[in-house]
Amino acid sequence: MPAFTAAALAFSLLGCAPTEPWAPPGPDERRALAARHARPDGEPGFVRVAAGSYVVRTDLGPEFAIDAACFLERFRSQFDHIFRDVPPPARYPPLVVVFREEARYRRKMGGSGARGMFVATDRAIYTYLDAAAGERDFATFYKKILLHEGAHEMLFARCGSLPVWFDEGVACYFQEWDVRLPVAENLERLRTTHFRFADVRDAFGTERWVPLARLLSLDRATWAPDDYGPRTTLHYAEAASFVSFLLATAEGRSTFARLYRSLKQGDSVETALGRAEIQRLDRAWRAEIERQINQTTPKNPLPPPAQNNHQEFSPDNPAASPSKMWAKRRP
Ligand SMILES: [Zn+2]
Repeated sequence: MPAFTAAALAFSLLGCAPTEPWAPPGPDERRALAARHARPDGEPGFVRVAAGSYVVRTDLGPEFAIDAACFLERFRSQFDHIFRDVPPPARYPPLVVVFREEARYRRKMGGSGARGMFVATDRAIYTYLDAAAGERDFATFYKKILLHEGAHEMLFARCGSLPVWFDEGVACYFQEWDVRLPVAENLERLRTTHFRFADVRDAFGTERWVPLARLLSLDRATWAPDDYGPRTTLHYAEAASFVSFLLATAEGRSTFARLYRSLKQGDSVETALGRAEIQRLDRAWRAEIERQINQTTPKNPLPPPAQNNHQEFSPDNPAASPSKMWAKRRP
């Protein structure tokens, strides 16, 4: 990819730092970018945008491809800013494929029921437009899947395989990210609106609660003890909560960076942090959850869970169970 093309697209797409607000391109700019950067792809009906950090391939048209490329470019710039202590490796652009038809996606993924997948061996993210749920264009498309799978891809590019709580905690945390907002505003906002905060609140202080030391010791085999039922859901929710707790403060971010560098070298969590530090973090994390609970109830009760057909990770909706969404994400 010629450097000038990437620079041109990055400039057109972003034009601002990750610490500043951002707006996606308007109709005129989108059309101009599409005319300049979208090319027909090998397969009839598909277009490809390969001028940014991703290669986006879709049969949803050039403007959808540009919107997805812009969205991902912005997300990557913010993710890179947060994880700047561990610089991203030189990498070839990951592939992002968005199919117009679910059936086509399912055929490609070998029948998986997931809404999207990051396939590490291909360095590729696959998903589809859910027309049955009312998605018509990029504005109505379920973008959380790009954030979740995109976070998995960026973590994998930096670190390779990671402990499951870290991998899923970070991906679930970032799926609630709002790319339009500056980094600092997102970090603050996600303290109390992170992924499945209500599950954390409901389990906190009960016998269902998973203590930090145990959460951090789970492996891929023990992560889903009830075949992606409520116990697994709580693992996802607690992992996202712990990631949110770490990322919310400068001290937490420095712990996070230390942990991240250490895990990257293949250390265990216990080696990376030490038992005493894990106990200290457990106390501080629980104090933060108590603070959040006091802050959000009963004065400002949480809104009821969103009713939608977007196949969000919901144990109440078997069609959208995480086993179908993410369990088979990697080969
Ligand atoms: Zn995941």
